[in-house]
Amino acid sequence: MDDPAAVRDLRALTDGFGRRIDYLRVSVTDRCDLRCSYCLPKDFKGFETPANWLTHAEMARLIGLFVALGVGKVRLTGGEPLLRRGVADLAAAIGAMPGVSDLSVSTNGTQLARHARALRAAGVTRLNVSLDTLDADAFSRITGRDCLTDVLAGLAAARDAGFAPIKLNSVVHAATPQAHVRRLLDYAVAQGFVLRLIEPMPMGTCGQGMRHTDLNALGATLAAEAGLIPAMPVAGGASGQGSVRQAGSGPGPARYWTAGHGAPVLGVITPMSRHFCAACNRVRLGVDGTLYLCLGQEDQVPLGRMLRAGATDAELTRAILAGIASKPERHDFQEKPERIVRFMAQTGG
Ligand code: SAM
Repeated sequence: MDDPAAVRDLRALTDGFGRRIDYLRVSVTDRCDLRCSYCLPKDFKGFETPANWLTHAEMARLIGLFVALGVGKVRLTGGEPLLRRGVADLAAAIGAMPGVSDLSVSTNGTQLARHARALRAAGVTRLNVSLDTLDADAFSRITGRDCLTDVLAGLAAARDAGFAPIKLNSVVHAATPQAHVRRLLDYAVAQGFVLRLIEPMPMGTCGQGMRHTDLNALGATLAAEAGLIPAMPVAGGASGQGSVRQAGSGPGPARYWTAGHGAPVLGVITPMSRHFCAACNRVRLGVDGTLYLCLGQEDQVPLGRMLRAGATDAELTRAILAGIASKPERHDFQEKPERIVRFMAQTGG
Protein backbone atom coordinates (compact mmCIF):
# COMPACT_ATOMS: atom_id res chain seq x y z
CA MET A 1 0.00 0.00 0.00
CA ASP A 2 3.08 2.23 0.31
CA ASP A 3 3.63 2.02 -3.40
CA PRO A 4 1.97 5.14 -4.93
CA ALA A 5 1.36 3.27 -8.20
CA ALA A 6 -0.51 0.53 -6.31
CA VAL A 7 -2.64 3.13 -4.55
CA ARG A 8 -3.36 4.84 -7.86
CA ASP A 9 -4.37 1.52 -9.39
CA LEU A 10 -6.75 0.75 -6.56
CA ARG A 11 -8.47 4.06 -7.15
CA ALA A 12 -8.35 3.91 -10.90
CA LEU A 13 -11.80 2.54 -11.44
CA THR A 14 -13.76 4.51 -8.92
CA ASP A 15 -16.74 6.32 -10.36
CA GLY A 16 -18.04 9.79 -9.60
CA PHE A 17 -20.10 8.44 -6.69
CA GLY A 18 -17.17 6.72 -4.99
CA ARG A 19 -18.11 3.24 -6.16
CA ARG A 20 -15.22 0.93 -6.91
CA ILE A 21 -15.78 -0.78 -10.27
CA ASP A 22 -14.10 -4.18 -10.21
CA TYR A 23 -16.53 -6.33 -12.18
CA LEU A 24 -16.87 -6.56 -15.97
CA ARG A 25 -19.60 -8.48 -17.74
CA VAL A 26 -18.82 -9.31 -21.33
CA SER A 27 -21.45 -10.19 -23.90
CA VAL A 28 -19.63 -12.57 -26.24
CA THR A 29 -22.62 -12.75 -28.57
CA ASP A 30 -26.01 -11.08 -28.71
CA ARG A 31 -27.56 -14.19 -30.36
CA CYS A 32 -29.67 -16.53 -28.30
CA ASP A 33 -31.38 -19.84 -28.99
CA LEU A 34 -34.26 -18.93 -26.67
CA ARG A 35 -36.79 -16.10 -26.86
CA CYS A 36 -37.74 -15.58 -23.23
CA SER A 37 -40.92 -13.57 -23.00
CA TYR A 38 -39.34 -10.83 -20.81
CA CYS A 39 -36.11 -10.65 -22.80
CA LEU A 40 -36.23 -10.94 -26.58
CA PRO A 41 -39.12 -10.71 -29.08
CA LYS A 42 -39.77 -13.86 -31.13
CA ASP A 43 -39.20 -12.01 -34.41
CA PHE A 44 -36.25 -9.91 -33.23
CA LYS A 45 -34.19 -8.65 -36.19
CA GLY A 46 -31.91 -6.14 -34.52
CA PHE A 47 -28.87 -8.32 -33.90
CA GLU A 48 -25.41 -6.87 -34.37
CA THR A 49 -23.90 -7.66 -37.77
CA PRO A 50 -21.15 -10.30 -37.50
CA ALA A 51 -18.59 -7.92 -38.98
CA ASN A 52 -18.93 -5.84 -35.81
CA TRP A 53 -18.48 -8.74 -33.39
CA LEU A 54 -15.16 -8.33 -31.68
CA THR A 55 -12.79 -11.23 -32.25
CA HIS A 56 -11.52 -13.15 -29.26
CA ALA A 57 -8.22 -11.30 -29.51
CA GLU A 58 -9.98 -7.93 -29.57
CA MET A 59 -12.14 -8.88 -26.61
CA ALA A 60 -9.14 -10.12 -24.69
CA ARG A 61 -7.31 -6.86 -25.42
CA LEU A 62 -10.16 -4.73 -24.04
CA ILE A 63 -10.70 -7.02 -21.06
CA GLY A 64 -6.96 -6.87 -20.35
CA LEU A 65 -7.17 -3.08 -20.13
CA PHE A 66 -9.94 -3.33 -17.54
CA VAL A 67 -7.96 -5.92 -15.62
CA ALA A 68 -4.92 -3.64 -15.63
CA LEU A 69 -7.17 -1.01 -14.04
CA GLY A 70 -8.09 -3.32 -11.18
CA VAL A 71 -11.03 -5.32 -12.49
CA GLY A 72 -10.71 -8.80 -10.99
CA LYS A 73 -14.10 -10.30 -11.73
CA VAL A 74 -15.17 -11.15 -15.26
CA ARG A 75 -18.41 -12.80 -16.33
CA LEU A 76 -19.08 -14.06 -19.86
CA THR A 77 -22.69 -13.58 -20.86
CA GLY A 78 -24.83 -12.68 -23.86
CA GLY A 79 -27.17 -13.38 -25.66
CA GLU A 80 -26.28 -16.98 -25.04
CA PRO A 81 -22.49 -17.14 -24.54
CA LEU A 82 -22.22 -20.87 -25.28
CA LEU A 83 -23.32 -20.13 -28.87
CA ARG A 84 -20.06 -18.27 -29.41
CA ARG A 85 -17.58 -20.55 -31.13
CA GLY A 86 -14.48 -21.20 -29.02
CA VAL A 87 -15.95 -19.63 -25.89
CA ALA A 88 -13.88 -21.94 -23.65
CA ASP A 89 -10.68 -20.74 -25.34
CA LEU A 90 -11.67 -17.15 -24.68
CA ALA A 91 -12.44 -18.05 -21.08
CA ALA A 92 -9.01 -19.68 -20.72
CA ALA A 93 -7.31 -16.56 -22.08
CA ILE A 94 -9.17 -14.37 -19.60
CA GLY A 95 -8.62 -16.77 -16.72
CA ALA A 96 -4.88 -16.68 -17.40
CA MET A 97 -4.68 -12.89 -17.03
CA PRO A 98 -2.87 -11.98 -13.81
CA GLY A 99 -5.38 -10.10 -11.68
CA VAL A 100 -8.46 -12.07 -12.71
CA SER A 101 -9.58 -13.72 -9.49
CA ASP A 102 -13.10 -14.68 -10.44
CA LEU A 103 -14.29 -15.93 -13.83
CA SER A 104 -17.92 -16.88 -14.30
CA VAL A 105 -20.49 -17.57 -17.01
CA SER A 106 -24.21 -16.84 -17.31
CA THR A 107 -25.99 -19.31 -19.56
CA ASN A 108 -29.45 -20.56 -20.40
CA GLY A 109 -28.06 -24.08 -20.09
CA THR A 110 -29.31 -25.46 -23.42
CA GLN A 111 -25.74 -26.21 -24.61
CA LEU A 112 -24.19 -26.67 -21.19
CA ALA A 113 -23.97 -30.47 -21.20
CA ARG A 114 -21.35 -30.41 -23.96
CA HIS A 115 -19.48 -27.32 -22.70
CA ALA A 116 -19.38 -27.84 -18.94
CA ARG A 117 -16.08 -29.72 -18.70
CA ALA A 118 -14.23 -27.44 -21.12
CA LEU A 119 -15.43 -24.32 -19.29
CA ARG A 120 -14.37 -25.75 -15.95
CA ALA A 121 -10.99 -26.73 -17.38
CA ALA A 122 -10.65 -23.18 -18.73
CA GLY A 123 -10.84 -21.81 -15.20
CA VAL A 124 -14.51 -20.85 -14.95
CA THR A 125 -15.58 -21.58 -11.39
CA ARG A 126 -19.05 -20.12 -11.01
CA LEU A 127 -22.09 -20.57 -13.19
CA ASN A 128 -25.44 -18.81 -13.34
CA VAL A 129 -28.05 -20.80 -15.22
CA SER A 130 -31.40 -19.31 -16.18
CA LEU A 131 -34.32 -21.49 -15.19
CA ASP A 132 -37.78 -20.02 -14.71
CA THR A 133 -39.82 -23.18 -14.19
CA LEU A 134 -39.61 -26.98 -14.02
CA ASP A 135 -42.95 -27.33 -15.77
CA ALA A 136 -42.14 -28.39 -19.34
CA ASP A 137 -45.17 -26.67 -20.91
CA ALA A 138 -44.57 -23.44 -19.05
CA PHE A 139 -40.87 -23.62 -19.95
CA SER A 140 -41.79 -23.87 -23.64
CA ARG A 141 -44.24 -20.99 -23.36
CA ILE A 142 -41.73 -18.72 -21.59
CA THR A 143 -38.66 -19.54 -23.69
CA GLY A 144 -40.27 -20.38 -27.04
CA ARG A 145 -38.51 -23.79 -27.10
CA ASP A 146 -39.28 -27.23 -25.78
CA CYS A 147 -35.87 -27.97 -24.29
CA LEU A 148 -36.22 -28.14 -20.51
CA THR A 149 -34.58 -31.59 -20.50
CA ASP A 150 -31.47 -30.16 -22.20
CA VAL A 151 -31.17 -27.50 -19.51
CA LEU A 152 -31.56 -30.06 -16.73
CA ALA A 153 -28.94 -32.27 -18.40
CA GLY A 154 -26.68 -29.22 -18.60
CA LEU A 155 -27.12 -28.53 -14.92
CA ALA A 156 -26.28 -32.14 -14.03
CA ALA A 157 -23.16 -31.94 -16.22
CA ALA A 158 -22.14 -28.67 -14.57
CA ARG A 159 -22.47 -30.17 -11.12
CA ASP A 160 -20.44 -33.20 -12.19
CA ALA A 161 -17.78 -30.90 -13.66
CA GLY A 162 -17.33 -29.31 -10.24
CA PHE A 163 -18.78 -25.82 -10.60
CA ALA A 164 -19.54 -24.16 -7.29
CA PRO A 165 -21.70 -22.38 -6.71
CA ILE A 166 -24.27 -23.03 -9.41
CA LYS A 167 -26.99 -20.39 -9.22
CA LEU A 168 -30.37 -20.75 -10.85
CA ASN A 169 -31.59 -17.37 -12.06
CA SER A 170 -35.33 -17.24 -12.24
CA VAL A 171 -37.28 -14.23 -13.47
CA VAL A 172 -40.46 -14.05 -11.39
CA HIS A 173 -43.17 -11.54 -12.27
CA ALA A 174 -46.62 -10.75 -10.99
CA ALA A 175 -48.28 -13.57 -12.95
CA THR A 176 -45.72 -16.30 -12.16
CA PRO A 177 -47.48 -19.17 -10.33
CA GLN A 178 -45.99 -19.44 -6.85
CA ALA A 179 -46.24 -23.24 -7.12
CA HIS A 180 -43.62 -23.07 -9.89
CA VAL A 181 -41.29 -21.11 -7.65
CA ARG A 182 -41.78 -23.54 -4.75
CA ARG A 183 -40.98 -26.45 -7.04
CA LEU A 184 -37.82 -24.69 -8.19
CA LEU A 185 -36.76 -24.13 -4.58
CA ASP A 186 -37.27 -27.81 -3.71
CA TYR A 187 -35.20 -28.75 -6.77
CA ALA A 188 -32.44 -26.28 -5.90
CA VAL A 189 -32.23 -27.54 -2.33
CA ALA A 190 -32.14 -31.17 -3.47
CA GLN A 191 -29.41 -30.48 -6.04
CA GLY A 192 -27.30 -28.13 -3.93
CA PHE A 193 -27.94 -25.16 -6.21
CA VAL A 194 -28.76 -21.58 -5.16
CA LEU A 195 -32.12 -20.30 -6.40
CA ARG A 196 -32.26 -16.56 -7.12
CA LEU A 197 -35.54 -14.88 -7.94
CA ILE A 198 -35.22 -11.80 -10.13
CA GLU A 199 -37.70 -8.99 -10.69
CA PRO A 200 -38.15 -8.24 -14.41
CA MET A 201 -36.70 -4.92 -15.51
CA PRO A 202 -38.41 -2.81 -18.19
CA MET A 203 -35.74 -3.29 -20.85
CA GLY A 204 -37.00 -3.25 -24.41
CA THR A 205 -40.63 -3.93 -25.28
CA CYS A 206 -40.49 -7.43 -23.75
CA GLY A 207 -39.28 -6.30 -20.35
CA GLN A 208 -41.67 -3.35 -20.45
CA GLY A 209 -44.57 -5.78 -20.91
CA MET A 210 -43.89 -7.45 -17.54
CA ARG A 211 -45.37 -6.42 -14.21
CA HIS A 212 -43.05 -7.01 -11.30
CA THR A 213 -44.06 -8.07 -7.85
CA ASP A 214 -42.12 -7.38 -4.65
CA LEU A 215 -39.82 -10.37 -4.38
CA ASN A 216 -38.59 -9.39 -0.90
CA ALA A 217 -41.99 -10.42 0.38
CA LEU A 218 -42.20 -13.59 -1.72
CA GLY A 219 -38.66 -14.58 -0.76
CA ALA A 220 -39.41 -14.13 2.93
CA THR A 221 -42.58 -16.24 2.63
CA LEU A 222 -40.86 -19.06 0.75
CA ALA A 223 -37.90 -18.96 3.12
CA ALA A 224 -40.15 -19.23 6.18
CA GLU A 225 -42.04 -22.16 4.63
CA ALA A 226 -38.76 -23.93 3.89
CA GLY A 227 -37.25 -23.21 7.31
CA LEU A 228 -34.55 -20.93 5.90
CA ILE A 229 -33.12 -17.99 7.82
CA PRO A 230 -31.72 -14.67 6.53
CA ALA A 231 -28.04 -14.92 5.66
CA MET A 232 -25.59 -12.69 7.48
CA PRO A 233 -25.31 -9.29 5.83
CA VAL A 234 -21.89 -8.05 4.84
CA ALA A 235 -20.80 -4.54 5.80
CA GLY A 236 -20.90 -2.43 2.65
CA GLY A 237 -23.25 -4.89 0.98
CA ALA A 238 -25.94 -3.82 -1.39
CA SER A 239 -27.89 -1.04 0.30
CA GLY A 240 -28.24 -2.94 3.53
CA GLN A 241 -30.07 -5.68 1.73
CA GLY A 242 -28.31 -8.48 3.52
CA SER A 243 -25.92 -9.43 0.75
CA VAL A 244 -23.63 -12.26 1.76
CA ARG A 245 -20.04 -12.78 0.89
CA GLN A 246 -19.42 -16.11 -0.77
CA ALA A 247 -16.30 -17.99 -1.69
CA GLY A 248 -14.84 -16.43 -4.79
CA SER A 249 -17.12 -13.43 -4.93
CA GLY A 250 -17.79 -10.19 -3.18
CA PRO A 251 -21.16 -8.94 -2.10
CA GLY A 252 -23.61 -8.86 -4.96
CA PRO A 253 -27.07 -7.46 -5.45
CA ALA A 254 -28.92 -10.45 -4.00
CA ARG A 255 -30.43 -10.76 -0.54
CA TYR A 256 -30.10 -14.35 0.65
CA TRP A 257 -31.55 -16.94 2.99
CA THR A 258 -29.63 -19.96 4.22
CA ALA A 259 -30.40 -23.31 5.82
CA GLY A 260 -28.18 -22.29 8.73
CA HIS A 261 -24.83 -23.54 7.45
CA GLY A 262 -23.98 -20.12 6.04
CA ALA A 263 -24.15 -20.95 2.35
CA PRO A 264 -27.00 -19.24 0.52
CA VAL A 265 -29.94 -21.35 -0.64
CA LEU A 266 -32.49 -18.77 -1.78
CA GLY A 267 -31.94 -15.20 -2.91
CA VAL A 268 -33.90 -12.31 -4.35
CA ILE A 269 -32.65 -9.65 -6.73
CA THR A 270 -34.96 -6.68 -6.59
CA PRO A 271 -33.94 -3.98 -9.06
CA MET A 272 -37.52 -2.67 -9.07
CA SER A 273 -38.86 -2.86 -5.52
CA ARG A 274 -35.55 -2.16 -3.74
CA HIS A 275 -32.75 -1.19 -6.07
CA PHE A 276 -29.10 -1.64 -5.16
CA CYS A 277 -27.48 0.99 -7.39
CA ALA A 278 -25.58 2.53 -4.47
CA ALA A 279 -23.48 -0.63 -4.31
CA CYS A 280 -23.11 -1.13 -8.08
CA ASN A 281 -19.62 -2.37 -8.89
CA ARG A 282 -19.99 -3.36 -12.52
CA VAL A 283 -20.03 -2.27 -16.13
CA ARG A 284 -20.78 -4.21 -19.29
CA LEU A 285 -19.09 -4.73 -22.63
CA GLY A 286 -21.29 -5.51 -25.64
CA VAL A 287 -20.29 -7.93 -28.41
CA ASP A 288 -19.20 -4.96 -30.56
CA GLY A 289 -17.08 -3.55 -27.75
CA THR A 290 -19.58 -0.91 -26.62
CA LEU A 291 -19.05 -0.17 -22.93
CA TYR A 292 -22.42 0.15 -21.17
CA LEU A 293 -22.11 2.05 -17.92
CA CYS A 294 -25.55 1.19 -16.51
CA LEU A 295 -28.21 -1.37 -17.43
CA GLY A 296 -30.88 1.26 -17.05
CA GLN A 297 -29.29 4.23 -18.82
CA GLU A 298 -28.04 4.89 -22.33
CA ASP A 299 -24.57 6.12 -21.30
CA GLN A 300 -21.98 4.22 -23.31
CA VAL A 301 -18.46 4.40 -24.76
CA PRO A 302 -17.71 2.92 -28.23
CA LEU A 303 -14.50 1.13 -27.21
CA GLY A 304 -14.85 -1.43 -30.01
CA ARG A 305 -15.12 1.26 -32.69
CA MET A 306 -12.14 3.08 -31.22
CA LEU A 307 -10.12 -0.12 -31.14
CA ARG A 308 -10.89 -0.87 -34.78
CA ALA A 309 -10.03 2.71 -35.72
CA GLY A 310 -6.52 2.07 -34.37
CA ALA A 311 -6.70 3.49 -30.85
CA THR A 312 -3.69 2.71 -28.68
CA ASP A 313 -4.00 1.00 -25.31
CA ALA A 314 -3.35 4.37 -23.66
CA GLU A 315 -6.18 6.00 -25.61
CA LEU A 316 -8.56 3.15 -24.82
CA THR A 317 -7.59 3.30 -21.15
CA ARG A 318 -8.31 7.03 -21.06
CA ALA A 319 -11.72 6.40 -22.65
CA ILE A 320 -12.47 3.70 -20.05
CA LEU A 321 -11.49 6.01 -17.20
CA ALA A 322 -13.60 8.86 -18.59
CA GLY A 323 -16.55 6.49 -19.01
CA ILE A 324 -16.29 5.15 -15.48
CA ALA A 325 -16.04 8.68 -14.12
CA SER A 326 -19.39 9.43 -15.78
CA LYS A 327 -21.19 6.23 -14.69
CA PRO A 328 -24.78 7.20 -13.85
CA GLU A 329 -25.79 7.17 -10.22
CA ARG A 330 -28.71 4.81 -10.74
CA HIS A 331 -31.30 3.46 -13.13
CA ASP A 332 -34.69 5.10 -13.66
CA PHE A 333 -36.65 1.88 -14.21
CA GLN A 334 -39.40 2.92 -11.81
CA GLU A 335 -39.66 6.56 -12.83
CA LYS A 336 -39.12 6.14 -16.59
CA PRO A 337 -39.90 2.51 -17.47
CA GLU A 338 -40.14 3.36 -21.17
CA ARG A 339 -36.63 4.76 -21.32
CA ILE A 340 -34.45 1.75 -22.19
CA VAL A 341 -35.27 0.43 -25.65
CA ARG A 342 -32.29 -1.96 -25.72
CA PHE A 343 -33.15 -5.56 -25.02
CA MET A 344 -31.34 -7.30 -22.19
CA ALA A 345 -29.66 -9.68 -24.64
CA GLN A 346 -28.06 -6.73 -26.41
CA THR A 347 -26.44 -5.28 -23.30
CA GLY A 348 -25.40 -8.59 -21.80
CA GLY A 349 -27.43 -9.56 -18.74
N1 SAM B 1 -28.36 -16.38 -22.00
C1 SAM B 1 -27.71 -16.21 -20.75
C2 SAM B 1 -28.61 -16.59 -19.61
O1 SAM B 1 -29.72 -17.08 -19.85
O2 SAM B 1 -28.20 -16.41 -18.46
C3 SAM B 1 -27.12 -14.84 -20.52
C4 SAM B 1 -27.89 -13.64 -20.96
S1 SAM B 1 -29.45 -13.42 -20.19
C5 SAM B 1 -29.93 -11.88 -20.91
C6 SAM B 1 -28.98 -13.03 -18.53
C7 SAM B 1 -30.07 -12.97 -17.52
O3 SAM B 1 -30.89 -11.85 -17.78
C8 SAM B 1 -30.99 -14.18 -17.52
O4 SAM B 1 -31.01 -14.74 -16.23
C9 SAM B 1 -32.34 -13.61 -17.87
O5 SAM B 1 -33.36 -14.27 -17.22
C10 SAM B 1 -32.20 -12.18 -17.40
N2 SAM B 1 -33.13 -11.24 -18.03
C11 SAM B 1 -33.42 -11.08 -19.33
N3 SAM B 1 -34.31 -10.09 -19.53
C12 SAM B 1 -34.59 -9.60 -18.30
C13 SAM B 1 -35.42 -8.55 -17.82
N4 SAM B 1 -36.18 -7.83 -18.65
N5 SAM B 1 -35.43 -8.32 -16.50
C14 SAM B 1 -34.70 -9.06 -15.63
N6 SAM B 1 -33.86 -10.04 -16.03
C15 SAM B 1 -33.83 -10.33 -17.35
